[in-house]
Amino acid sequence: MNKDLFSSFKNVSYQEPMKNHTSFQLGGPVDVFIEAQDLGEIKKAVDLCKRESLPWMVLGKGTNLIISDLGLDGVIIHMGEAFKKIEAIDETVIRAYAGTSLKSLAEFAQERSLEGLEFAHGIPGSVGGAITMNAGAYDGECVQVVKEVGLMTRQGEILTLSVEEMDFSYRHSRVQREKDIVLWASFQLKKGDPLKIQEKMDDLWQRRLNKQPLEYPSAGSTFKRPPGHYAGQLIDLAGCRGLYHQGAQISQKHCGFVINKNQASTQAVVELIETVQKLVKDQFGVDLETEVKVLGR
Ligand SMILES: Cc1cc2nc3c(=O)[nH]c(=O)nc-3n(C[C@H](O)[C@H](O)[C@H](O)COP(=O)(O)OP(=O)(O)OC[C@H]3O[C@@H](n4cnc5c(N)ncnc54)[C@H](O)[C@@H]3O)c2cc1C
Repeated sequence: MNKDLFSSFKNVSYQEPMKNHTSFQLGGPVDVFIEAQDLGEIKKAVDLCKRESLPWMVLGKGTNLIISDLGLDGVIIHMGEAFKKIEAIDETVIRAYAGTSLKSLAEFAQERSLEGLEFAHGIPGSVGGAITMNAGAYDGECVQVVKEVGLMTRQGEILTLSVEEMDFSYRHSRVQREKDIVLWASFQLKKGDPLKIQEKMDDLWQRRLNKQPLEYPSAGSTFKRPPGHYAGQLIDLAGCRGLYHQGAQISQKHCGFVINKNQASTQAVVELIETVQKLVKDQFGVDLETEVKVLGR
């Protein structure tokens, strides 16, 4: 990798360990890690990668990723401080930039007596990651509250798309297909009672604390919900609760979570996932598709 190519970026590092940027605390080095300062740097990075035929991807908070022990080829573009901003557009619409945490977004809405984002409060990702994944929980989902999304296409075009144009479905949006870069999203909310909104956020957080193994590194629910079933229930019925493999474990608390119990490697996590997929398939004929994205060399 020719470092001179990247010398004009304000905040760039090389061979950056991805385990420092993922909630699973896993992943080897990426060749180049750019902390993008503004839209100009994002565009410059994408143009450069195109010209030099380098693979690239955008990183949010790394809470839905499993990255290889051998790391990643190419360039990670991370949304820097300039992309952590929330603003009120009018009485019921707020806009948040892609690097904003969902927690700050939900709190901003609550402080303005706006309901609709309570579901997002406990999801540990960024706005960009949540739009990409159509993140959701407890009957709420991004698609229900998104008004518009500002994005840069991989050709460098800046677009504002309506919620219909985002092609949202279960844990999916057009961003995954088109490899767009989410810059911001606006949310259409409703006026509500701030105390009730706070109560709902607290209740959902308590439910997470009770049910999820938040004390261990993970990437949340490892598998998508298979039609007509719950992944965690199938995994439990297949006898995998607590199944342990070289530091990786199917959580005792919630079988839908693979956790990094004791300094697991990515390889161990991936092998455990594959074992569980096979056991569930053999016993119930159901394919468990991963919700987490497994990436790297
Ligand atoms: C303890 C725990 C609980 C969780 N609970 C939930 C839950 O209840 N519901 C749920 O849906 N998810 C949950 N998750 C998963 C995760 O938090 C969500 O998928 C979240 O939306 C991912 O956001 P992120 O910023 O971390 O994205 P990342 O993990 O960084 O990236 C995920 C994908 O989005 C892409 N991406 C990120 N930002 C951008 C951008 N600006 N432009 C284009 N692409 C981008 C990345 O390239 C990658 O493909 C949980 C995770 C953990 C660890």
